[in-house]
Amino acid sequence: MTRYIDVQDLARLVNRKGLATCLEEMAEYIRQDYLRWHDFEKCARLANHSPDGVIELMPVSDANLYAFKYVNGHPKNTQAGLLTVMAFGALGDVDTGAPMLLSEMTLTTAIRTAATSALAARYLARKDSKRMALIGNGSQSEFQAIAFHTLLGIEEIRLFDIDRRACEKLAANLAGYPQLKLVIADSVAAAVRGADIVTTVTADKAYATILTPEMIEPGMHLNAVGGDCPGKTELHRDIVERARVIVEYEPQSRIEGEIQQMPADSPTTEFWQVVEGRATGRESASQVTLFDSVGFALEDYSALRYVLDVAKTLEIGHDIALVPDLKNPKDLFALLRPAPAKVKADAA
Ligand code: NAD
Repeated sequence: MTRYIDVQDLARLVNRKGLATCLEEMAEYIRQDYLRWHDFEKCARLANHSPDGVIELMPVSDANLYAFKYVNGHPKNTQAGLLTVMAFGALGDVDTGAPMLLSEMTLTTAIRTAATSALAARYLARKDSKRMALIGNGSQSEFQAIAFHTLLGIEEIRLFDIDRRACEKLAANLAGYPQLKLVIADSVAAAVRGADIVTTVTADKAYATILTPEMIEPGMHLNAVGGDCPGKTELHRDIVERARVIVEYEPQSRIEGEIQQMPADSPTTEFWQVVEGRATGRESASQVTLFDSVGFALEDYSALRYVLDVAKTLEIGHDIALVPDLKNPKDLFALLRPAPAKVKADAA
């Protein structure tokens, strides 16, 4: 049988554990899997583009588990009452191919993206970081704010979105975190001024320049989350050129990340090298570091592994017959055979 987790199940799972705990534990699953980088068969995700968006398939496997995620990115969707990013995914047993988990991944993606951002910032941001700017206050933003507050000790966040109601929604949703000071800024420049960390998580299918060179101060860490598709970036090219750039999986980031703006041989370091200690994250207090995040299948593998472990422990979700379970595995046709007629009690 396959464990099935729908959106309500996942919300129940997160509320039972607490979001901060989920973020911390998922970040640790992700870290552990990045430490096993060479155990995985990897590829850049398969993207089908349309004028207003993209639908992507993200597969990855090791010797035991196969994972994939279906995810879309349609920045115009919110105008039609739909989420910009929606996802579901599965885990399968490599030995047999049997599906073990079919799960919602919209909430899961927001948690895994925020957990990955915070994990990367632990290696790349200055240790004394206290203030963050958060540009783009849509669906991902609460998760980013809570991850940086609870995992990194960020005490103040300056918010900016071209849609003021999105800033107000975010501030209202964070009311349960009284130690976190929130300031709604009037411009990107005002939000970014004096920040230790800048997170950009906007949605626009364009070569946007949310951040421009004059906004960048020595020692900043840039967590660029929203540029994740060909023709969809957030940072001015000169920022990327001058920063120490860390990517998840270079073949995919060259196509989709901020580094799509750079020559194919521009210097980058893959995150696993930093996690393993083979490469230094931040090289000096004044260096500008950039986590050029696009979202990699390995993080979804970790997230699905985490969801399955917790769902089993908390007995959340239910088992479904997603594939047949047959008495004779060579007799698939048995599923179509009519059930034997019931013998009537008075037949004799
Ligand atoms: P969303 O549509 O809910 O929110 C995006 C917000 O960005 C909106 O509130 C919009 O008003 C704002 N925005 C657009 N242009 C802006 C600008 N120029 N300045 C300031 N704000 C602006 O989308 P979401 O689900 O929060 O996703 C945000 C982005 O993150 C998307 O581009 C998505 O593709 C990306 N994403 C990346 C990863 C990853 O792993 N890197 C994972 C999930 C989502």
